Amino acid sequence: MKTENKEQLLSGIKRLKEEKNAIILAHYYQTGDIQDIADFVGDSLALSQKAVVNNADIILFAGVKFMAETAKILAPEKKVLLPDLNAGCSLADSCKAEDFKKFISENSGRTVVTYVNTTAEIKALSDIICTSSNAIQIIESLPKDEKIIFAPDKNLGNYVQNKTGRDMIIWNGTCHVHHEFSLEAILNLKKENPAARIIVHPECELPVRLVADFIGSTSSLLQYTKKDNSTCYIVGTEVGIIHQMQKENPGKIFIPAPPLDSTCGCSECSFMKMITLEKILNCLENEDPEIFIDNEILVKAKMPILRMMDISDKLGL
Ligand code: SF4
Repeated sequence: MKTENKEQLLSGIKRLKEEKNAIILAHYYQTGDIQDIADFVGDSLALSQKAVVNNADIILFAGVKFMAETAKILAPEKKVLLPDLNAGCSLADSCKAEDFKKFISENSGRTVVTYVNTTAEIKALSDIICTSSNAIQIIESLPKDEKIIFAPDKNLGNYVQNKTGRDMIIWNGTCHVHHEFSLEAILNLKKENPAARIIVHPECELPVRLVADFIGSTSSLLQYTKKDNSTCYIVGTEVGIIHQMQKENPGKIFIPAPPLDSTCGCSECSFMKMITLEKILNCLENEDPEIFIDNEILVKAKMPILRMMDISDKLGL
């Protein structure tokens, strides 16, 4: 994009935000340009918390649909905009409401814990929501003998089950980005950069997690790079987080972990990258596309999210 075009877009977005009392909440997996014009950048948990605590009339969500839906559920009085309604999520798509209802009835008597990466309909079927930042603490907040259904990410579910030792039945869903990292390519990178620390998200497969020096949510990985004294990292999560890692650690080197198919660009989330500066400008101008959720679903989906936020607040997460 030409610099003058970009400057026009940025000044247009800034003007519209002020005129309309709007804020932009952006996920760490957005492009650097979008992260830099956002009022707040964070992971799913932090963005949910921010959606509640702000004085804006309009929230423009630079992220994917389930995130914008979560903001609408938590702040139904506000207008919530998503610049492209096709910005979905392969993980959320792997768990359809009809199939999940059947799964719950086949495993009745279990507490349903779902990851925030789900549609509003799935949240409405859940007892409690978690994010990758608080999944272990949410599971540990339940009584030790409680039987659990965990959905939709099988890698995160296995990771949490190993950490907590709880009785969990896990839905067979995956994220197309985190599931696709190549162990072999990561180990080759490590050979070329022996001092590099391998840091990965818990949505990665077990063999990748086993070679990691640190496993954590997107925000934990960022925090780790700030506290750790290494100077080079192989990063096994969506490549967008490297923008913040580099901003926070100007002297350090960050190498994206390669996917299995090095031609497919899988370490980029294609859904996250559907959001562009042009779409943000148009969306603010027209106040469209807007997120709408059936009221009955919204009310049911809010309870398990509030339960998560209450536990997170008590634990200072
Ligand atoms: S990175 Fe994976 S889990 Fe996150 S929005 Fe993209 S597809 Fe969904």
